[in-house]
Amino acid sequence: ITIAAPREPAPETRVALVPETASALTRAGHRVLIENGAGLAAGHTDADYEKAGADVVAGIDLAAIDVLAHITPLPPEAIARLRRGAVTIGLMAPFTDERLAALTEAGVTALAFEKVPRTSRAQAMDVLSSQALAAGYRCVLEAAIRLPRFFPLAMTAAGTVPPAKVVVLGIGVAGLQAIATAKRLGANVAANDIRPSSAEEARSVGATFIDVGLDTAEGTGTGGYARALGQDSAARQQAALAPHIADADVLITTAGVPGKTAPRLATAEMIAAMRPGSVVIDMLAASGGNVEGSVAGEDVKVPSARGDGEITIVGLTVPAADLPADASRLYAKNVQNIINLLVTDDGFTVDFADDILDGAAITHDGVNRLAAPETGPS
Ligand code: NAD
Repeated sequence: ITIAAPREPAPETRVALVPETASALTRAGHRVLIENGAGLAAGHTDADYEKAGADVVAGIDLAAIDVLAHITPLPPEAIARLRRGAVTIGLMAPFTDERLAALTEAGVTALAFEKVPRTSRAQAMDVLSSQALAAGYRCVLEAAIRLPRFFPLAMTAAGTVPPAKVVVLGIGVAGLQAIATAKRLGANVAANDIRPSSAEEARSVGATFIDVGLDTAEGTGTGGYARALGQDSAARQQAALAPHIADADVLITTAGVPGKTAPRLATAEMIAAMRPGSVVIDMLAASGGNVEGSVAGEDVKVPSARGDGEITIVGLTVPAADLPADASRLYAKNVQNIINLLVTDDGFTVDFADDILDGAAITHDGVNRLAAPETGPS
């Protein structure tokens, strides 16, 4: 089959196929088309793709390909040029009516990575996980570089430097990676989440779990995801977290509920109670923000109530895109693994007996398969 990857529109730095995956796909007998310059921001030249067996083209003839692998959700103009029966693989949220209508009308099978089930077998195609891994790691680096202190304990002839105290809220894939990275840098880490299994997961990577005394069933949604807390519980959680945040040098928030705006975990007052020089990283700044006052793409300085000096609130946008080489490598491998589900001994088919394809396909053969648009897995 013919598989293509476009040059992503700015500011996206990642690319959906890297030379390594292009090579694997061409060796499996497929034709791979790459739009020129597509890999540059991720460190791959057109020549690298050619060496891997791909054809580098000035523009992809969308009517002549079987699979389009992308990162940025496709605009309706591009969707309309795809041939009926073609498959698109990429990120698709938000699932706007306009995009769903365009995909349905074009008669394409749109596989949305956001809808891949969170099962063991699907891990190899789980873009949310692979990109959250990069994001969680990046959150810690963003904090470390801004903090006027060390992360690790240093015992030297010139005296002892205590380790930094880091609080991580949201212990999903990104949060776990943030904990592990902060631990590797030598910080003391405490963490909180509302899913019952999160305490054990946090401890397994070296964090202390902050128990806020909630009924864990309340925070448990379906498919391994969290559910939005009611107002009373959210207020109790904030009250219990407040002293931990006030005592932290670094606060990193990664808490999400699929299809919902990010839960507000720290108020402006809770942040102002931190020491001058403290750093807050809000990974969800672009989706409503876990932290009051965060702005996506900006460093916001707020005065500390504890004396002269400020706290820096960093609003991240797409932290994985700041690590384009490895984030693309993982993304491309996820794409390759899902293509392997489409090409079987029976040829090129979308078999809905496969729960991964059944979950991921938001449109197929002129049908909008999303019963409730605008929601993620709940
Ligand atoms: P996510 O990005 O949806 O959310 C991040 C974390 O925020 C989650 O752990 C969630 O519980 C937490 N959260 C939500 N509201 C909160 C609140 N009010 N306070 C504190 N924390 C809050 O999560 P994710 O990283 O996509 O992971 C979701 C789940 O899926 C996890 O249980 C994870 O282990 C599981 N998972 C399974 C697989 C697999 O088996 N294939 C792969 C990836 C993730």
